[in-house]
Amino acid sequence: RAKADGRGLSRGFEPEMDLALRERRALQQDLATAITRNEMFLHWMPQANTKTGEIVGFEALIRWKHPTRGVVPPVEFIPVAEETAAIVPIGEWVLRTACREAARWVRPGKVAVNLSPVQFQHGDIVALVHSILVETGLPATRLELEITEGVLLDNLTGALQTLRRLKALGVQIAMDDFGTGYSSLSYLQAFPFDRIKIDASFIRTLSTSPQAKAIVRAVVALGASLDMPITAEGVETAEQRAFLAELNCEEIQGYLIGRPSPVVSFESPFAKQRMRAAG
Ligand code: C2E
Ligand code: MG
Ligand code: MG
Ligand code: MG
Repeated sequence: RAKADGRGLSRGFEPEMDLALRERRALQQDLATAITRNEMFLHWMPQANTKTGEIVGFEALIRWKHPTRGVVPPVEFIPVAEETAAIVPIGEWVLRTACREAARWVRPGKVAVNLSPVQFQHGDIVALVHSILVETGLPATRLELEITEGVLLDNLTGALQTLRRLKALGVQIAMDDFGTGYSSLSYLQAFPFDRIKIDASFIRTLSTSPQAKAIVRAVVALGASLDMPITAEGVETAEQRAFLAELNCEEIQGYLIGRPSPVVSFESPFAKQRMRAAG
């Protein structure tokens, strides 16, 4: 019946699902060879001291230049890479490349690298981080690993043990996208993070939402009493920076300081302004 009089319907719907699936399969296949074909590269996003504007480090953000699709953003391909565990070699490439480049920076700034939960489930992430530090000569204290609560979701005990072993290497552990998950507070109780990154969604709505203001104020206060410095993500305006500076939020990251870029520059937009004003 469907074939007889529902041609348009069944053909219109099913092939579309087929297409989405085929599309994902194609991405998965291309991801498997992306590293060996040299299609991945890094962008760097500056992180600054909120009050002085001094650039203190950079977050490594992966980019994929697909041979026919152009640059595919990480929000599109990281989830696909996580499905097939292709994220494991990709994440290893990011870590090695970021540490190697950071070891050659003109200043010993912090280098922040995002880790996928899947990297905690496959292989020995502690051994990998250790060997990359040895291989690149980057001092462990300069490396900050950004994790989301996804790392802690299944097998909390195992994840906490891994995080403790990473900390024992001397690297810093930051909780990324704080406030967007389900049980962020219980994780703060369970593990001594070296830093909390407030998610950009709270910063974006600061000027229009009294709730966002209250939440940011509370998270910064919480960080202070837990001895966990705060980085605010997604800072785009001078007003947002002023508000965060007043709260003593330690660091900011966002378009106000600098956009992701293939090159690293320790020159701060604020320091420049101050020099111009003085001269
Ligand atoms: P994230 O770790 O929370 O990184 C911050 C994202 O917000 C970046 O997007 C950055 O460009 C963007 N952003 C920061 N400040 C601003 C701002 O002021 N305005 C606007 N409009 N955007 C801002 P990006 O590079 O597209 O990365 C998105 C997400 O992809 C990252 O979120 C992270 O979860 C993931 N990702 C990126 N690189 C890697 C990687 O090497 N490994 C893993 N596992 N995930 C990665
Ligand atoms: Mg991050
Ligand atoms: Mg984030
Ligand atoms: Mg994120």
